[in-house]
Amino acid sequence: MRLEDIKTVGVVGAGTMGNGIAHVFALAGYKVKLADVSEGYLAKALETIKKNLGRQAKKGIISEEDIPKVLSRISTTTDLGDFADVDFVVEAVFEDENVKKDIFGRLGEITRPDVILTSNTSSISITRLASYSGRPELFAGMHFFNPVPVMKLVEVVRGYATSDETANLVIELAKRLGKTPVEVKDYPGFVSNRVLMPMINEAIWALYEGVATKEAIDTVMKLGMNHPMGPLTLADFIGLDVVLNILLVLYNDFKDPKYRPCPLLVKMVEAGKLGRKTGEGFYKYE
Ligand code: NAD
Repeated sequence: MRLEDIKTVGVVGAGTMGNGIAHVFALAGYKVKLADVSEGYLAKALETIKKNLGRQAKKGIISEEDIPKVLSRISTTTDLGDFADVDFVVEAVFEDENVKKDIFGRLGEITRPDVILTSNTSSISITRLASYSGRPELFAGMHFFNPVPVMKLVEVVRGYATSDETANLVIELAKRLGKTPVEVKDYPGFVSNRVLMPMINEAIWALYEGVATKEAIDTVMKLGMNHPMGPLTLADFIGLDVVLNILLVLYNDFKDPKYRPCPLLVKMVEAGKLGRKTGEGFYKYE
């Protein structure tokens, strides 16, 4: 498959990341087939894309007239069978290996044999996901960041068998979306979460040990390191359950105690204080 031959992109999962991924492909001129398990999720995703395109128009990034054109490039489906004619796939369903295994097994049968399959997973081994697809050389990680229309980075993850052609095509495709691709190998957490999550965890340990208040810890990292937000604020934004899950992947996969999640993080997740999405994490939200 050559870059020029890619016209229609299949996106599986229309949640936070999937709708953003559909948005950026459609904006770059690609036809998009967006799949999820129910019409309700798909309708909500289209609403979100419309709202975010409106936001981009207000900021002058795109023109108002572009909005209906971009939306007209996106079709939705609850049937993966409709992916028989797509030229490239990005998977962005729940971070659950069994769900992804099932999807890649099916995509390996439904899509044309030359179609590259990618996953937006944050923490699951690309090499393992590739093995479920039956075409590991045509498989890579395409790790976008939230919110997808805004964030420039795409980690392009090479699994054990990913071919040079596949990696290069994903890199060039990311550039066509106006993103900055960075190539990384398939190790737990890639680069982004391997560096970020221990920092967040250490901030939680500092809070747990009473080194400083939450506000003080966040202020140190904001003003001292020029981070746009402190690590505890960022953890609330990401979701404490997501932070804990990724730390557990690092801890279990590397078998290294330096990734041990702070007990305070575990307790807060058990208490349902997951951050912004539940109205309370390290901070309270209206
Ligand atoms: P989400 O929960 O917002 O969305 C997941 C969507 O997948 C839901 O709409 C769900 O209905 C759908 N889905 C579940 N099973 C499906 C199936 N069998 N077929 C079709 N659709 C199915 O999750 P998200 O935050 O968008 O995360 C998606 C992926 O992106 C995960 O792998 C996650 O690790 C990764 N990721 C998330 C972020 C983030 O900040 N949220 C950032 C980078 C990567």
